[in-house]
Amino acid sequence: MLITIRELELEPLDFEEELPAAAVDLGSDGRLVAPVKTTGRAELFEEHHGKGLVLQDVRLHGKLATRVEMPCARCLKPVERDIHRDYDLLYRPEPSLSGKAKSPELELSGAESEISFYGGEGLELAEVLREQILLDLPLRVLCGEDCKGLCPTCGVDRNRETCTCEKPVDARWATLQELQAKFKK
Ligand SMILES: [Zn+2]
Ligand SMILES: [Zn+2]
Repeated sequence: MLITIRELELEPLDFEEELPAAAVDLGSDGRLVAPVKTTGRAELFEEHHGKGLVLQDVRLHGKLATRVEMPCARCLKPVERDIHRDYDLLYRPEPSLSGKAKSPELELSGAESEISFYGGEGLELAEVLREQILLDLPLRVLCGEDCKGLCPTCGVDRNRETCTCEKPVDARWATLQELQAKFKK
């Protein structure tokens, strides 16, 4: 759904949307296994900067819920996690489109650095939701706290099979063995 500035100039927009999982591509980070449900409100917010310069910002706030599938960090088995996130975002017109906005007085300060920009007619809701879901993804998931992972040598899933690979010799242990060999002489 494209939220257009023209619409928002008339009145704020309350939305309730359900996007199919396939409409939101998370790339290699994971994939959605449930639709994205979101409710929220979009409204224009005018920033007055003196000299008659007014920026039309879009404030977008609401909440989203979906379910994501990611590989277990140890054994790669797919693991599902619920995602629930509240968002409150401010989008400014892209500097190139607002002309004077490039003047030094409009440089973003540190506190404002999370402000995003919109270009063209408005904001694509699916793209906004995709970014919010990516921000909410856990860095790593485990299928279980006791997951034994894959054998680094043969790749067998050690939760299901035992392999006969030798345990790699610890370097410190090897030094100790050398010392012992010397003393025996
Ligand atoms: Zn696992
Ligand atoms: Zn092995």
